[in-house]
Amino acid sequence: MKKRILFLLVIFLSCVIFFSLSQQKDKQIVSPNGNISLQVNIVDGQLAYQVAYGSVSIIRPSRLGLKLVGGDLGTHVKIMRTQVTSFDKTWMPVWGEEETIRNHYQQLVVDLEEQKGNHRKFSVIFRAYNDGIAFRYSYPRQKGLGDFTILEEKTEFALNENDTCWSIPYSTKYYEGLFTPKPLQDIGWVSTPVTIKTKQNFYLAIHEADLTDYAAMNLFASKGSNVLKSRLTPWSTGERVKVTKTRKTPWRTVIIARCPGDLILSRMMLNLNEPNKIKDTSWITPQRYIGVWWAYHMGKKTWTMGPKHGATTYNVKRYIDFAAKHHFGGVLVEGWNEGWEDFKFNYTKAYSDFDMPEISAYCKQKKIGLIGHHETGANAADYEDNLDAAFAYYQKYGVNVVKTGYVGERLNGIESHSGQYAVNHYRKVIETAARYHIMIDNHEPVMPTGLQRTFPNLMTQEGVRGQEWNAWSLDGGNPPSHTCIFPFTRGLAGPTDFTPGVFSFVNEKMPQTKVSTTLAKQLALSVVIYTPLQMACDMIEHYKQYPDAFSFITSCPTNWSKTVIPEAQIGKYITIARRDIASPTWYVGSITNEKARISRIKLDFLDKKKTYEATIYADGLNADYQENPTDYAIQQRMVCSADTLQIPLARSGGVAIIIKPNK
Ligand code: CA
Repeated sequence: MKKRILFLLVIFLSCVIFFSLSQQKDKQIVSPNGNISLQVNIVDGQLAYQVAYGSVSIIRPSRLGLKLVGGDLGTHVKIMRTQVTSFDKTWMPVWGEEETIRNHYQQLVVDLEEQKGNHRKFSVIFRAYNDGIAFRYSYPRQKGLGDFTILEEKTEFALNENDTCWSIPYSTKYYEGLFTPKPLQDIGWVSTPVTIKTKQNFYLAIHEADLTDYAAMNLFASKGSNVLKSRLTPWSTGERVKVTKTRKTPWRTVIIARCPGDLILSRMMLNLNEPNKIKDTSWITPQRYIGVWWAYHMGKKTWTMGPKHGATTYNVKRYIDFAAKHHFGGVLVEGWNEGWEDFKFNYTKAYSDFDMPEISAYCKQKKIGLIGHHETGANAADYEDNLDAAFAYYQKYGVNVVKTGYVGERLNGIESHSGQYAVNHYRKVIETAARYHIMIDNHEPVMPTGLQRTFPNLMTQEGVRGQEWNAWSLDGGNPPSHTCIFPFTRGLAGPTDFTPGVFSFVNEKMPQTKVSTTLAKQLALSVVIYTPLQMACDMIEHYKQYPDAFSFITSCPTNWSKTVIPEAQIGKYITIARRDIASPTWYVGSITNEKARISRIKLDFLDKKKTYEATIYADGLNADYQENPTDYAIQQRMVCSADTLQIPLARSGGVAIIIKPNK
């Protein structure tokens, strides 16, 4: 009997293998819900993939390959084997926008062999999720493919039409640009994420995941073609990637959504990163903090030591007292260490008017975290030389969050902020910080790609045109639409350190440059912009003027069990509701661009069996971002899941709401 079963099994497996071989030139996977399909073929000797949503083409046949020193990889290939598998597992992030995340996909591994020369072998791994598709190249070490250098990745994303794209131009530095909508053929060389609205009303976002030991992927479009081509950030010498140890590329990702809000709810990028590598995560604590910071940008204090020095023992103690009174997690202190005069920093030597042991003891006494700062002046090599000493110094004084900064056109004066050198440098800092139990807030980073799943001490990153531009930008500051766009672009790459929370709208130093929002919109940004480590950026003096409005900021968490998006249009408005990880209370933020509107917020995300008390921090009747930004009104009312709130938002206004269940 047993022999017979074995015999039948062998016949069955032979059939499976035969079927697989006979079908190898035309392979397909579909998303678990069946909506998205991905198919591969050989086109002119090259592997190509195409993607559809139902019967609608999303990506036309797009070629794949790598241009190497000494010749291309991926021309004249034959599919040797394909393998389709499924995966479905739910995991819990250490912190995030959801308590649990389902990683559910179908995978296709395509093993290829070149039909000439050394007959080199490589694979492309594809995945179809309910919220998009992803793929990566894998190239094991072999004869003719030892260490090698990539001159360009020849990955294509062939769209169907000259669709609208939101993107920022490629730059060697910080991604601190304004995302503007343009026809695909006019965007030129841009960073990812690139967010696209197609003529068939699909919303796509092209980016990457698990950027490890590789250069960031940018995209290039040319006139007359709807094909976006990858263009990796080069080394100063022109090569793109030196391949030695890491034998696979990052994942190339395309989120496919039916409405703008679903772009933000996609967790595909996190799913494509490696699971958490930090065993004990008890020291990783999401929090809201204040900082000795905005006063620098407003010209009221200085980073350097002198009569207006911000990081004096006296001033920092004031901030610690205020943070303790209002239950913040910590106080960021910039300008505490020597080196601001010439941007050559000493990471272990405080200015003489900043008493580190005394401040450290005071923080301990007040139960407030001290958030450290390492500005490197983009001198990454010098920072690496001093990294252990710098983190050991902070560890000694109880500092468990460090904001890093890389102000300077290029790292070490030569390398781009998004090239392979930078990627490896930032990774080294994050991994080293983890050994010292230090969380990282990386400014002037490479664009995030979901690494926080693997190293959850990477709390947040800048890589955005942040609030600081409203202090000194010559163009007058961020336009009202900025915060209605970047949650759909930069925000898709991960937690964003934008630093909302300005309560003062006068700029004495540069009167033409200012924060172009209402005060209520600043409150709403605390919910709209996701980051587990978020600064309430304004000065103590300004918060003291509006204690009732300030109460929203002090009660708003930074770690969530659920996120929903009741309404959103890219560049126009967005409403996000998030449920606190530690309680059943919901927090809602809704913002608009330069046009006033009525926010209609369906509360169907609330528990149907409960009634709630909503505290609504809205724009006042006369609020207007140009004329009267500080006009706001706070009211309370009972609500339930059947209700729809209708709340008027001023021009560049907003509303922030706390919705607490009744006992
Ligand atoms: Ca910056």
